[in-house]
Amino acid sequence: MFLTISTTGTAEHPATDLGFLLHKHPGKAQTFSTSHGTAHVFYPEATEQRCTAALLLEVDPVALVRRGQGKGRGQAPDAALAQYVNDRPYAASSLFAVALGGVLRSALKGQCTARPELPEQARPLRIEIPALPARGGAALVHRLFDPLGWASVTVSPVVLDERFPEWGDSRYVRLVLEGELRLAEALRQLYVLLPVLDDAKHYWIAPDEVDKLLRAGDGWLAAHPENATITARYLARHKRLTQVALERLELVRLAEVDGSEVEELDNAVDETKDTEERPVPLAVHRREAVLAALRAAGAARVLDLGCGQGQLVQALLKDPAYTEIVGMDVSVRALNTAARRLGLERMGERQRSRVRLLQGSLAYTDKRLAGYDAAVLSEVIEHLDVERLPALEYAVFGSARPRTVLVTTPNVEYNVRWETLPAGHVRHGDHRFEWTRAEFRTWAGRVAERYGYGVEFAPVGEDDPEVGPPTQMAVFTTTITTITTTNDTPKEGEAA
Ligand code: SAH
Repeated sequence: MFLTISTTGTAEHPATDLGFLLHKHPGKAQTFSTSHGTAHVFYPEATEQRCTAALLLEVDPVALVRRGQGKGRGQAPDAALAQYVNDRPYAASSLFAVALGGVLRSALKGQCTARPELPEQARPLRIEIPALPARGGAALVHRLFDPLGWASVTVSPVVLDERFPEWGDSRYVRLVLEGELRLAEALRQLYVLLPVLDDAKHYWIAPDEVDKLLRAGDGWLAAHPENATITARYLARHKRLTQVALERLELVRLAEVDGSEVEELDNAVDETKDTEERPVPLAVHRREAVLAALRAAGAARVLDLGCGQGQLVQALLKDPAYTEIVGMDVSVRALNTAARRLGLERMGERQRSRVRLLQGSLAYTDKRLAGYDAAVLSEVIEHLDVERLPALEYAVFGSARPRTVLVTTPNVEYNVRWETLPAGHVRHGDHRFEWTRAEFRTWAGRVAERYGYGVEFAPVGEDDPEVGPPTQMAVFTTTITTITTTNDTPKEGEAA
């Protein structure tokens, strides 16, 4: 298995920066032992103008057989010879992706402590894989790579045997990708798409494969037109995991589409008011209302569920009363932005120990969320389909069960006061619903009763005498500390 990565450069931006990006010195050949054989990284050329890194994986076929992993799909599984004579050692396959994840881990993550600015920069790249097993052929290779921002994607069939052209093409292609991309992005594409094209995954699919896929797919997979094929193949067609992954990707996509619009629209609305002073954005009112309610509840350990880009987490960090702050969101992209905003990497140890960011979905119970003083769901519930709300209710009020839960959501009655909002429209694209004050109270009352909480309501922003405030907030407080449940799924009447 063989892959080369080339880049070009100038005296000012030398091509040999590739060595920093890969964390592998261009001056020496290096060898790593991986679980499936030996990986070599070396540089066939390394000048200011042009630098090429080669990654070669020598697979140990005997080790493969011992692990029972040597069988590619389509090969007779019981033929003794096929165990030893198979394509695994030669083709750039899923094993290669595993090696990539090990040997080039930091590069894949886009980390470079020596030159932190480098991973952020797109640079001219040429990636060549001479023998790529491609079930689905050249057409599928194009469908997978064409949407990913490369200037050119060249796929040439590899003939079975040059001496016998009449034998036709093998199931391998030579792939050349050329364009300006960030290296980490390119590597993450390969990390996912090599096994997808190989379609003969060699290891058991564990549930954390979904997390790996979403991490590696950050920034490109959610909106990829072939994301259903990619997900199903990557997860070895495991139905349940594929479904979970696709649901999460859909949420990521929706969050990416409109992530920034929330505050923009809130601000735009306030500008329609005829005041001399600079109006306070609604997002700021909301944060202050939430902070006041948390203080009143005496919370020290707080969850921000659907934390988005981390503005509330940042505010909480400034107050030493909060000893443990956890931000959770389904969107990896939002969490990356939050991590940058908070400066997690540069933070002192003490501060760092107070804060954690988690990726997860509120549609599922999550043990990591148990035992906190308070949870905030600020402008989050309206992002879930109404049919999924019971799952969220159970995950938060039934399973995580903090003493206090704060929920904010738009008050749809107020929308008529927003001159920029066409009649009958929700405040932004991803809102699955927006409730009147009565609807919110009915929902909150039902949840409180079911899970043993008391609930009070508070307006956020100017409380209009006719249509109420732009944002409504419910403050839930536990009235009982334990409920008896028999299993992990919500059941009618279990909290009664
Ligand atoms: N709490 C922030 C962000 C609100 S935007 C604020 O008040 O400004 C809604 C956020 O909910 C987005 O970041 C979105 O990614 C997240 N989200 C949507 N569905 C989710 C789910 N099922 N689980 C966790 N987070 C979700």
